[in-house]
Amino acid sequence: MSVAGVPYTTNFTDLSNDQGFQFEFFCERCGTGYKSTFKASKTQEVAEKASQGLGKMFGGRLTKVAERGSSMLQNVAEPKEKEKALASAGAEVQSQFEQCPSCGSWVCRDNCWNAEMYMCSACAAKEQVAPCPHCGAEVKGTPKFCPECGKSVAPLTCASCGTTAEAGTKFCPECGTAFA
Ligand SMILES: [Zn+2]
Ligand SMILES: [Zn+2]
Ligand SMILES: [Zn+2]
Ligand SMILES: [Zn+2]
Repeated sequence: MSVAGVPYTTNFTDLSNDQGFQFEFFCERCGTGYKSTFKASKTQEVAEKASQGLGKMFGGRLTKVAERGSSMLQNVAEPKEKEKALASAGAEVQSQFEQCPSCGSWVCRDNCWNAEMYMCSACAAKEQVAPCPHCGAEVKGTPKFCPECGKSVAPLTCASCGTTAEAGTKFCPECGTAFA
């Protein structure tokens, strides 16, 4: 379900209770949840004040009536108030998210964003430039072979212990097994 004013995710949970409103929005890429701050329900406050007032007025004997009155109040006013609370919670949590100018996806700043390159980490990995371990040419992204010298630039996996090492490494840094 998409929420008006929340462009960055369609995945959220309602953590609201009868005291107030809170929502958790999830990053669609990594699934991390970001909670909005808890906002006390205005209806609840009004209802509480009303019941306190009534209670005082009738020397506390009519608290039952006051309680009933407050829950009625709540039921009538809640849907609209919740809608508003959801919209403002969404706006608050949006600061945790960024839209990647390269792929257009919304991702969370904490796990899925490369602030230096101002793009999502998946796109940043594609743009990353690393020197070829064989000829030193700048190789963009993570291709299997260097476009300059044709040698393999894919990371190596040790057949004996499973450690990965940079292309061009001769021996496993963990167990000393020679790479083919
Ligand atoms: Zn991207
Ligand atoms: Zn994320
Ligand atoms: Zn090369
Ligand atoms: Zn090894």
